[in-house]
Amino acid sequence: MSDFDLVILGGGSGGYAAALRGAQLGLSVALIEKDKLGGTCLHRGCIPTKALLHAGEIADNSRHASDFGVNAQFISMDMAAVNAYKDGVVSKLHKGLQGLVKSRNITYVEGTGRLVSPNSVEVNGTKYTGKNVILATGSYPRTLPGLEIDGTQIVTSEEAMKFDYVPKSVIVLGGGVIGCEFASVWNSFGSEVTIVEGLPRLVALEDESSSKLLERAFRKRKINLVTGVKFASAVKSKSGVTITLEDGTTHTADVLLVAVGRGPVTSGIGYEEQGIAMDRGYITVDEKCRTNIPGIWAVGDIIPTLQLAHVGFAEGIMVAEEIAGLNPRAINYDGVPKVTYSEPEVASVGLSTAVAKERGYDVVEISYDLAGNGKANILKTAGSIKLVAQKNGPILGVHMVGSRVGELLAEAQLIFNWEADASDVAQHIHAHPTLSEAMGEAHMALAGKPLHAHG
Ligand SMILES: Cc1cc2nc3c(=O)[nH]c(=O)nc-3n(C[C@H](O)[C@H](O)[C@H](O)COP(=O)(O)OP(=O)(O)OC[C@H]3O[C@@H](n4cnc5c(N)ncnc54)[C@H](O)[C@@H]3O)c2cc1C
Repeated sequence: MSDFDLVILGGGSGGYAAALRGAQLGLSVALIEKDKLGGTCLHRGCIPTKALLHAGEIADNSRHASDFGVNAQFISMDMAAVNAYKDGVVSKLHKGLQGLVKSRNITYVEGTGRLVSPNSVEVNGTKYTGKNVILATGSYPRTLPGLEIDGTQIVTSEEAMKFDYVPKSVIVLGGGVIGCEFASVWNSFGSEVTIVEGLPRLVALEDESSSKLLERAFRKRKINLVTGVKFASAVKSKSGVTITLEDGTTHTADVLLVAVGRGPVTSGIGYEEQGIAMDRGYITVDEKCRTNIPGIWAVGDIIPTLQLAHVGFAEGIMVAEEIAGLNPRAINYDGVPKVTYSEPEVASVGLSTAVAKERGYDVVEISYDLAGNGKANILKTAGSIKLVAQKNGPILGVHMVGSRVGELLAEAQLIFNWEADASDVAQHIHAHPTLSEAMGEAHMALAGKPLHAHG
């Protein structure tokens, strides 16, 4: 006899979304969490980093206030106050989430769980048995061989977001999303920042044009960029950390942030013993997130899909609905919106030009420069909205760079996921003056009727 319809191991984005949706659908649910409900996203990821970025935006605004005719001055960062603000946001959301889980009659179990059979998880000597088990144990920050994290001079994002001081200088190893966001924060806070990225460009999962625009904007902000050279070694001294790259060049800073990706938390908790199929530590699943063991599902950062909170939410919801017999649609991962919340932001949905071509599409593209947009001029931001489309067909990708462009993804993802073509979008009126107008203008231009576009 099963105690629960659903036993969920891990209370992060993927796990708690499955729990909330499962309970909503009338399933009995046990949710097991060893640390804090909300997981990485709420306590060590999305939310705290975005609070830091917002504090950075205010610092930059005060620095540049005179550009807008406002007499103000940037004096310094008060990191105790920044952290109090950030922790306050996290704590409020944490309380709200705890209340939500309680209100849905979910059995919340505190403690470290271990999968001890295909349908049960043991926590502190008690077995929780379920008709279905969902694994959602998340991810941890990776490092490189020979690079030991000491938590003070050589750190990951976990320690970096708790710093009670602003380092004079920082090397950010890794120019992906997390690296670029921290580089942006520290530059705004007043540190001298160098990003070292082994690949030829920053945010390499994005369209090449977005990387170029971000790099240009970062250089303008005096962030030093070293791309296309791999890390070789690091040496610590009292005064800082010196890293040597494979081309023999060295860089020294007070702090080295290692932001080289995140690995799945899948070892030592019974997964191997139960015969769950994995590939390089990630659990392999089908399009509905089923593992190879009947009744065991896996969602979030432990499966090889995009490591994003909203992907975890979507997978958790899909699995709960599948278990409840709703037969939901499988997720189209091309349609997942992605944002790097640096200044400027990088946001996209759909295919890059390169991927669209690889897949054999006859591609047309257009780039609408934000210089032609009223609101972008008011904000003094630069960037563009690039559309990738199938010739005489739907929009295949939307790629944006500029302040606040992440907010434009709401429309972009509908355009992509509803397979609209440029003329479908061009006929809709966008409010003036908004940044969203640039979305309308880009589609008007692609539909052959540009308004505020040169050339
Ligand atoms: C610095 C940073 C910034 C980020 N910013 C964004 C962003 O802006 N937007 C975005 O979409 N994504 C962002 N992410 C990614 C996002 O946080 C993750 O994709 C998301 O949290 C994954 O959810 P998850 O449920 O798979 O895992 P997690 O959130 O990691 O949750 C897993 C949970 O399982 C628990 N657990 C693990 N093992 C056990 C066990 N044996 N027993 C009991 N409990 C266990 C853990 O304590 C944890 O709470 C960011 C990540 C980082 C690190």
